[in-house]
Order: sequence, then structure tokens, then C-alpha cells
Amino acid sequence: MNEQEQMLTSVMNCRRVDLYVDKKEMTPVQERQYARMLKRRQQGEPLQYIIGHCEFLNTKLFVNEHVLIPRPETELLVEMAVQKLRMTTRRPLRILDLGTGSGNIAIAIAKRIYECHVDAIDISREAIMVARHNAEKNFVQKKTTFIWCDMFNWLGLDEDLIKPYDMIISNPPYIPSADVAGLPADVQREPHIALDGGVDGLAYYRGIIAAAGKFLKPDGYLMLEIGEEQSAALKAVFKQYSDFQKVFVFRDYTDADRFLCAQYVPDTTANN
Ligand code: GLN
Repeated sequence: MNEQEQMLTSVMNCRRVDLYVDKKEMTPVQERQYARMLKRRQQGEPLQYIIGHCEFLNTKLFVNEHVLIPRPETELLVEMAVQKLRMTTRRPLRILDLGTGSGNIAIAIAKRIYECHVDAIDISREAIMVARHNAEKNFVQKKTTFIWCDMFNWLGLDEDLIKPYDMIISNPPYIPSADVAGLPADVQREPHIALDGGVDGLAYYRGIIAAAGKFLKPDGYLMLEIGEEQSAALKAVFKQYSDFQKVFVFRDYTDADRFLCAQYVPDTTANN
């Protein structure tokens, strides 16, 4: 659907085909709503905030200005994660999603893996509210726990307090701070805390990689979405932690490096 069709189907609460076959007329209220939407769009607001939802892996998710709009490439991250989880024989599976935003990753995994529980963290209280709403709408509230917490505080927790996970997954903020101001106008309307990854864009990865081993079961996976220029620097970060072996980089639809998958294989002989 083009943008106009998306706005019209949203205002008239109808399918795309209804716009063309047996064409329904808009009521005066709907006409005013549509005009307001067009104006907001002209002023540079992202379409998904205006219509109040987006599609992520065939799932409808509510979004507002407090959450990053899920990107198509993140669908690939989830598909890779689901493949890995399906190959894992342990059940129930425990997954941790860091910086969940709208809850897109957590909800998509919970919908696809039969016996699993996803803990999902976000520093924004408003984002947690959006994510909980989306989990309810998608009937996975019992398989998900959304926690309002700074991920660095969570990662700093004592390992005895946390039951280990089979997978940690994250699409953290990864744009270098100085580049945020140069992003396209509609991206600028998204929460900067969901985009700004510190001076070199790697601040969140450093924290996650340093702490991940503490929270992962042996053979557990760390799956990350990354910026396309960041794979070499991140591989170097992983080198500091010998318990992460098999660090693989995967590309997105545009053939850019976009994901990192590492497996936690602790060296059990280290203390002998
Ligand atoms: N991929 C996002 C973008 O297109 C960035 C999201 C992030 O920083 N995790 O802007």
C-alpha cells in the first residue's frame, strides 16, 4: 500500500480493496482526520506514528513517538535468532532482549517459539508501556516480561540474581552521536535515545559483550544488530573475551554487514 492508502485504510478502518471496489465515502469526521494526517506527514512526521502502527514480520504493532519504528532488516535478525533457537534442544528457552522499544523482537520470538520466555528491558517507561500493549494484542503477554530498567544497570546485576539465558538479543542504539543530527528528517523524529550509540556508536555493544557471558548458558547465543561499518571494531571487542567463539557477521538485504552472532563457549579448563 502506498502512504495515502495506508492513511485512508486507517481512517476508514477498511481494507485496501474497499478503497477501490464499491468505494465507500468518507464521513465528514473521517475527512478531517485524513486532512490532519496529511498535514502531519507534510511536516515530516513518520507515517507509522501518524497511523499508529507498523508491520513487523506480519505482525501489527502499535508505535508512537516513544519507540523506534521497527526496521525491515531487524526482521532478518529475528529470523536468524528463531532458526538458532529451533535448533536448540533445551526447553523452555529463555531469551533476553535488551532495548526492546516497541517489543518487536521479543514479541516476534515469543510468537514463533513454542516453549519460551522472553525478558525484555528498556530504559524508557513509555516504551515499556507500548511493548506491553503490543504483547497483549499479540497474545504473548504470558511468554514475555517487560522490565523498565537501564540496560547497564541490568547488565551490572550480580549473576546469582539472574537465571541464565539461552540467547541475548539486541538492536541497541548504534549511530555515532555526531551523526544523529545528519539523519533524515523523519528518522530525527524518532527517540534519540534509541539511535545514539555514544561517540563511536559502540557504547552499548561494549557493555553488552562485556556482561553477556555472565548471563548466558554455555553454548548460548549473543545476537546483535550492528551498523554497517562496525563489524571489524566489534570483532576486536569480542577478542577481549575468549569465551566468545565463532563470531559471525551476516549481511542485510542491501548486502551491508548488519548482524553479529557469537556463541558463548566458556573455557571450563581455565580454573584447573
Ligand atoms: N537501523 C536504524 C536506522 O536506520 C538505527 C537503529 C539503531 O541505532 N539501533 O536508523
